Amino acid sequence: METKFRESIVNAVHNPNLTGALGRFSEAYRTSRLKAYEGYDFETLRTQIAERKSYAASHLDELADVFTKNAEARGTKVFRTNDPAKVREYILNLARENGVKSVVKSKSMASEEIHLNKHLEMAGIDVGETDLGEWIIQLAGQTPSHMVMPAIHMTKEEVATVFNEQVEEGQKPDIPKLVKFARGKLRTKFLDAQMGITGANIAVAETGTLVIVTNEGNARLVTTLPKIHVAIVGLEKLMEKFDDVVPVLTALPKSATAQLMTSYVSMISGPVPNTDGTLKQLHVILMDNRRTEMSQDPKFKQAMQCIRCASCPNVCPVFRLVGGHVFGKVYTGGIGTILTAWFDALKASDDIQSLCIQCGNCVEVCPGKIDIPGLILELRRRLAVEQGQPFAQKAIFSVVNNRKLFHSMLRAAYVMQKPLQKGNFIRHLPFFLSDMTEFRSLPAIAEAPLRDTIKEIKQPASKNNKDKNKDKNKEKIAFFAGCLIDFAYPEMGESLVKIMNRAGIEVIFPEGQTCCGAPARYSGAYEVAAQNANDNINALLADDVTYVVSACPTCTVALKHDFISTFESLGQTDSLPRARQLADKVIDFSSLVKKLVDAGRLKFKEGQELGKITYHDSCHLKRTLHASQEPRQLLTQAGYEIAEMYEADMCCGMGGSYSLKLPEISAPILERKLVNIKKSGAPLAVMDCPGCVMQIRGGLDKQNSTIKVEHTAQRLADELA
Ligand code: SF4
Repeated sequence: METKFRESIVNAVHNPNLTGALGRFSEAYRTSRLKAYEGYDFETLRTQIAERKSYAASHLDELADVFTKNAEARGTKVFRTNDPAKVREYILNLARENGVKSVVKSKSMASEEIHLNKHLEMAGIDVGETDLGEWIIQLAGQTPSHMVMPAIHMTKEEVATVFNEQVEEGQKPDIPKLVKFARGKLRTKFLDAQMGITGANIAVAETGTLVIVTNEGNARLVTTLPKIHVAIVGLEKLMEKFDDVVPVLTALPKSATAQLMTSYVSMISGPVPNTDGTLKQLHVILMDNRRTEMSQDPKFKQAMQCIRCASCPNVCPVFRLVGGHVFGKVYTGGIGTILTAWFDALKASDDIQSLCIQCGNCVEVCPGKIDIPGLILELRRRLAVEQGQPFAQKAIFSVVNNRKLFHSMLRAAYVMQKPLQKGNFIRHLPFFLSDMTEFRSLPAIAEAPLRDTIKEIKQPASKNNKDKNKDKNKEKIAFFAGCLIDFAYPEMGESLVKIMNRAGIEVIFPEGQTCCGAPARYSGAYEVAAQNANDNINALLADDVTYVVSACPTCTVALKHDFISTFESLGQTDSLPRARQLADKVIDFSSLVKKLVDAGRLKFKEGQELGKITYHDSCHLKRTLHASQEPRQLLTQAGYEIAEMYEADMCCGMGGSYSLKLPEISAPILERKLVNIKKSGAPLAVMDCPGCVMQIRGGLDKQNSTIKVEHTAQRLADELA
């Protein structure tokens, strides 16, 4: 990671204007977006969008031809090119031929993508942005920090300063007055311009129509007042039928700005007359710039389903801290990282892909149904193939890949940690490791790992049970512990065994299990992840068990989903049948316990009033495994009162090795979580993920808080009837 990039993160995180504005917006956005979608079936709506956009992506050539034919039949000139330089050349030639001295632009990411303004200005043409946010950042000499709200990072004071310095002195930091001032100045620009440049939100092939939405009405003036209108349209904006416009226009304002509808929707199906009776020139540039290639990529084709609503950054815990400028590119946020890798270069996404913490918030809200974190992992894989893995990473994974060596090292760490250990914590690490304990304490390695202690537990039909034959028909499940439960928190695993035993289930611990491969996969080291997957599949399918259960949602997701997609990405199809066989057996802890309780196989002590607790949703459990109610229902049935914390389902900043790689971001995300836990008033925070326990318990310990943190298994095990 480049030092400059890391510095830009630190600067952003310590910029109170930026974090304040983005934080407030993101909090308000979540609530207002839900309100805007009230009465709509979001899942159905986004399925419609995804299907129609996916169809368009599969028929790009054909739709571009149909669009061209229909648009040209109405007098539009259509130019199609893969090359951004040709787009600029076309517009410059057109401007020169028509003596254009002044251009007004409505917000267009496609024009940003090809750095059009700079090229026009170098040719002596005055270019004026007319979207208020875009105009502000143009005057300030900046780039947009957000796809929909380009100047969200600026305060009214900063805007007033920009107006005073760049336009006219005497402007006060008063929003209505600043807007009025801008409107007056922009009107003159509209009237003076000879050419208007826009993008388009949709290009309808069957009618050759451009659909443009704005809230300020500026696109309407840009497309009607100057005598020449040029629309730069990325090929992903093509849709087959007019009917396809409806779901996109329904979702776009709700997802973008939580509005029921956008103020202005313009539909342009051909040149219209000017006020002097002549006919306007309408030019549509269908810009490819690797979009066709993207649509043919089996993994990245889905990125063509993006409607550029920017709800993904709006809900991203990282984006709301660092904003868009850290990305240093035209497109920002998770989807921006993917678009940068394609429209700029894979290498250009090298640093920025590391910002993704893989929480999955964006997947939940994306109206294009795009698996943004999954695509970012694929970028990491391709980057690792193209550039090779960093030396330190390679060394770490070569140890992780050797199960026996890895486990011996963890056992050795138990002895070596002694001078640093205080109770169950390591509060300070020396030298270059000190960052790791700066904002949270780390758990000490347990004296004996779960793989040892579990052998001491007398279980139904286990080898410690003398009356073995009597119980030989008892149900068996395999437990996948994951590194944290095995070596740092064996008590969580012991609680799980106690619960299963109470339901008459024997828990076996396949010794051959190793790291779930998530750290390797999340770093792009898919070959390592595949070897971890194969080792685990062999270990976990060796016995005939009803379920394979894990009390770590990240591990559960690895076993249930990631092994399959890792093999698919690597083309290791031979491994897929056994990966699927394993996936069918895998279940997360709370979902399994809920099943057992519902089936009457487990009961809690009756009539208990155990007081308040608060529950933190682990990202993978809620958003990939869709189990957010199960733990709450179980804890309530056990006798706890759940005091919901604010943003219970927002990431705690752990993200596996993310908290080690980017402590600058992990720390403030954790801080926010700790504030919300404290505000809940509960003396105990419960969660289903040992990784979240490590992060949150460590953070609270660092702050000398008395709030306790436990895994759901520990709380339930104590309350069984
Ligand atoms: S990826 Fe999805 S959420 Fe993000 S801008 Fe595109 S459509 Fe919107």
